Amino acid sequence: MVLHVEQVTAWMYQTNDKIQSNKDYLSSLDQAIGDGDHGINMARGFEAVVSTIADTSYSTVSEVLQDVAKTLMSNVGGASGPLFGTAFLKLSMGTKGTEEVDYSTFVESMDQAVAGLQQRGKAEQGEKTMVDVWSSVAAYLHQQDDFHPKTLRKIASSSMEETKGMIATKGRASYLKERSKGHLDPGSVSSYYIFTSLADSLEGKE
Ligand code: ADP
Ligand code: MG
Ligand code: MG
Repeated sequence: MVLHVEQVTAWMYQTNDKIQSNKDYLSSLDQAIGDGDHGINMARGFEAVVSTIADTSYSTVSEVLQDVAKTLMSNVGGASGPLFGTAFLKLSMGTKGTEEVDYSTFVESMDQAVAGLQQRGKAEQGEKTMVDVWSSVAAYLHQQDDFHPKTLRKIASSSMEETKGMIATKGRASYLKERSKGHLDPGSVSSYYIFTSLADSLEGKE
């Protein structure tokens, strides 16, 4: 399977739909272990993403992802805005120069996205942040030789669920120490929406 401009724009529309329908849920998760704005931040960011995409015509996947990155960086705010911005910027850089993106190019660019996230947020896997979902998805993609939307959804879901049992050592949730345990990490839940939406777009959903 290769990624086309149409799939990547569909990916972003799907993500926006899920974020908008779960805006209050995401904020309630952040209310439990943060400052309660994650849904608002993400909804604002992805609304801006789809409006940018709708107004632009693209010839490469990389250009779409670059606009996604820039728009998230300037519209999401909080801790998560620059982090999601960095991840999508790395995906854009890693997929540069080709109209269609093949599987191995996407996998390599996911590695760069995870490295960029870790560099910016200084978080390792297991610290109850979005890194847990991004790095699990990247590791899973390495084990495959093509996209498998159903398994992609499962990995995104299980890695998101695993954050519930973790103690946060980065970000606002880390102020709660042991009391952060028993709650899902909001940024991992929105990352889960991002990767289930990728699975949707690979299955041709718009
Ligand atoms: P803020 O905490 O500034 O209000 P958000 O609520 O939008 O920002 O985002 C919180 C999410 O950001 C967390 O759930 C977590 O997934 C992610 N996050 C916070 N700090 C880090 C970090 N240092 N590294 C990776 N992800 C982080
Ligand atoms: Mg917050
Ligand atoms: Mg905040």
